[in-house]
Amino acid sequence: MIEKIYKKVSEFERISSDEGIKLLKEGDFLTLGKLANRIRFKKHPKKLVTFILDTNVNYTNVCYVGCSFCAFYRKPHDNEAYTLSISELISEIEEAQSKGITTALIQGGLNPELPYEYYLKLVKELSKSTVHVHAFSPPEIDLMCRISGKTTDDVFEDLKDAGLTTMPGGGAEILSERVRKKISPKKISTDRWLEIMEKAHEHGIKTTATMMFGHLETKEDIIEHLDRVRELQDKTDGFTAFIAWDFKKENNELGKIVNRIVTGIDYLKIVAIARIYLDNFDNIQASWASQGKDVGELALHFGANDMGSMLIEENVMREAGFRAQASVEEIASVIRKAGFKPALRTTDYKIIKYL
Ligand code: SF4
Repeated sequence: MIEKIYKKVSEFERISSDEGIKLLKEGDFLTLGKLANRIRFKKHPKKLVTFILDTNVNYTNVCYVGCSFCAFYRKPHDNEAYTLSISELISEIEEAQSKGITTALIQGGLNPELPYEYYLKLVKELSKSTVHVHAFSPPEIDLMCRISGKTTDDVFEDLKDAGLTTMPGGGAEILSERVRKKISPKKISTDRWLEIMEKAHEHGIKTTATMMFGHLETKEDIIEHLDRVRELQDKTDGFTAFIAWDFKKENNELGKIVNRIVTGIDYLKIVAIARIYLDNFDNIQASWASQGKDVGELALHFGANDMGSMLIEENVMREAGFRAQASVEEIASVIRKAGFKPALRTTDYKIIKYL
């Protein structure tokens, strides 16, 4: 049966969730890479790999949700708790802009003390500058609905009026209620995450979709996640890219009970399966910041066509004991070494310049 699935994939046919599970469980590592690459080159025939130069600013680390995998959040009265004022946030971004960033990825903890106007002002003020504002994942949008008493549609209208055009796909982790109940019981449900993404797309706000794996999920949960985002993409075509990263164990509760180690091979398999299963996604990112540059380089031969962010600042993974750093030239040379031409891009995948 596995040969039949390989054939189906090589003929660019969509596979079912049962076939996805079988591929993930029994698929030969190199065959998966080859099939994923075949699809990648059908969608992107040029030997080009893009990436973006951005900064990740976390406006607050105060969060009442307390996900078990999160090393970043603090309780309101914790000594290390912080919330940036709008002017502090702008000056951080201006500093990053002076280093060449084009996009500010802005996310924060779920801090119920922040007024609704804070979010609107943040987008409005930043939209006056030349930086692209890529802000707020679905759990933050849900919080905005609750503090303002507004509907999701109204919140998106307000954010759009303020200047928001794209959103990151955070807060998805694994879109399976079985897993969410264990790792983040207080976070929004799978259905709500998808509902918010659907509304964003309806309002013309493009988003990414993400997945964090390598903790309590099964292979069936991974395919359920991919299936839910594929289904929504069929409906809205609003996802620009899919990004998977592996769970980091340090400084968090979940890390104490998870014994698995995600290897480079595990990661590459996920990249390949994502490329194969998500036949309606144009872009699959290699999250070099999560797995390191070497695995990132290999991911370009497992279906990925984009190296993601060259982050100036990344707090969330750093708190969990993982710090990845690279310069633009280093990432460009990783791409060249893998046999591709590097190019800097915008958030909506337009080329800024070839390197
Ligand atoms: S992952 Fe987000 S929602 Fe969960 S505890 Fe951390 S900051 Fe809060």
